[in-house]
Amino acid sequence: MWARKRLDVRWSDLAFGLLHACLPADRWAAQRRVESAWSDSEDALACLSVRSGFDLLLGALALPPGSEVLVSAITIRHMVEIIERHGLVPIPVDLDVERLAPRMEWMRRAVTPATRAVLVAHLFGSRTPLEPILALAEEHGLLVIEDCAQAFAGPRHGGHPQADVSMFSFGTIKKATALGGAVLTVRDARLLQQMRIGQASYSVQSRGSYVRRLLKCGALKACSSRVAFGVLMGVLRAVGRDPDRAINGSVRGFREGRLLERIRRRPSAPLLAVLKRRLRTFDVHRLEDQREKGRRLARLLNHQVACPAATVVPHTHWVFPILVDNPQQVLAGLRQAGFDATQGQSLWVVAAPGDRPWLEPTAARDVLSRVVFLPLYPEMSTRVIRRMAQMVLRECSGVAAKRGLAMVRS
Ligand SMILES: *Cc1c(COP(=O)(O)O)cnc(C)c1O
Repeated sequence: MWARKRLDVRWSDLAFGLLHACLPADRWAAQRRVESAWSDSEDALACLSVRSGFDLLLGALALPPGSEVLVSAITIRHMVEIIERHGLVPIPVDLDVERLAPRMEWMRRAVTPATRAVLVAHLFGSRTPLEPILALAEEHGLLVIEDCAQAFAGPRHGGHPQADVSMFSFGTIKKATALGGAVLTVRDARLLQQMRIGQASYSVQSRGSYVRRLLKCGALKACSSRVAFGVLMGVLRAVGRDPDRAINGSVRGFREGRLLERIRRRPSAPLLAVLKRRLRTFDVHRLEDQREKGRRLARLLNHQVACPAATVVPHTHWVFPILVDNPQQVLAGLRQAGFDATQGQSLWVVAAPGDRPWLEPTAARDVLSRVVFLPLYPEMSTRVIRRMAQMVLRECSGVAAKRGLAMVRS
């Protein structure tokens, strides 16, 4: 069984993390090392997670209660929750289905005198062009925050130079993971200083919790080979556990509940050491391989199945989504053929505010109801990818595929 995902971490990174968890270290120096590896311009902040950094940002901005933040309509639920916890109102901006970019006419319609900021999530490894958004933001005096959690493409790319803040995640399922950690590029020095002061008041992530994460991911990595993963799925089913929930739960960054309490921590010294190592030894070839395989799979599906954002450039193809009318049937067919595709559980559609139901992002909801993520990583050969594409085409043939195409063209 080809697992849904392979954690992008080497055994040597895990061993390095365990070693550093046992060594004494100057946490502050480790933080500085990450930040100077990220950028020469003193504009980087290393955090425990993107969620931690975003929460620090909103704390430092201290916008008046009731201020509105435009949010591209698909993101993770916690980002929306953090906005609300700061007394702000998230306003969805629906997406163009083909490119998964925020729809500009929608954004124009959603701006009010209370709007203060725009949060744009680059999805699935693609990068949405920010220029039109930057222009609109300039016109209305809005802060532009880009969420690059899914779009890390190597340490030489710290985000759009005109965005106010660019946020990158090194959480467990992300590209070049450090099993946690994030780096934010904050281009306003005063704002960055405020965030640093906020972070300095936090306690440090315990080494024990980081070690547990290293061990858990080691176990998961050991189970990700084709044979072991097949066995793991079989065992989970046999003991009556839902494999989707068990697997997704094991890579989750924070447990449910008491979100702010959990994210308000400083990253530990071993986490920072691993993060710096991931930046310094970033594997460009692996990235290129993934990118090439993503392009190839999109070509094989050849407009017969909707592949949202697949043609956007730049794109790392961090994950490979397709849209189908019969997700359950496609998942079952793929599973039978040895491919562990999933519907994903972590993405969330931002809801319209109660007083403006016309801002309900229906295209985004449609995307999440029909999305299936195909497994795709460098270990899969061209031949295997071709076989998977054939399976997908077979399961989606006929009316369903034609409708998918019509959706994407509309
Ligand atoms: C993963 C992810 C986050 C959260 O990143 P953490 O570092 O785990 O907090 C935020 N936004 C998007 C779009 C993500 O995919």
